[in-house]
Amino acid sequence: MRAVDTLTPCPCGNTVGYMHCCGPLHEGSPAPTAEALMRSRYSAYVLKREDYLLATWHPSTRPAHLKLATQQPAPSWLGLSVKRHQHGTGEAVVEFVARLRYGGGRAQRLHEVSRFVREDGRWYYVDGEILA
Ligand SMILES: [Zn+2]
Repeated sequence: MRAVDTLTPCPCGNTVGYMHCCGPLHEGSPAPTAEALMRSRYSAYVLKREDYLLATWHPSTRPAHLKLATQQPAPSWLGLSVKRHQHGTGEAVVEFVARLRYGGGRAQRLHEVSRFVREDGRWYYVDGEILA
């Protein structure tokens, strides 16, 4: 099994690889944009980094836990495609399609418009609207 720090491409799909994409964010570097934060959160789902997902979730909407480690059936994340990124100074919207499969089920698409806010120099996920 490969160590996580050699992942190329990055789990979010970026060909520069994990160490130059989502890795530094997972280690605490602030995301420069809401899109970068969104990509790093997708990678965190792939890598089951529940701590990171909760840390980047705005306190006003953050769940107590996600229980990723015990989720059944476990999702397999198949890819991420960012469709749109709109941002002002303190808030942003990112539209994306993530593909995943639960257990041995069929691949499905998760199409979401996520809202983000920036506070004290850091972006946070607020909530998302799932599109059909
Ligand atoms: Zn990445």
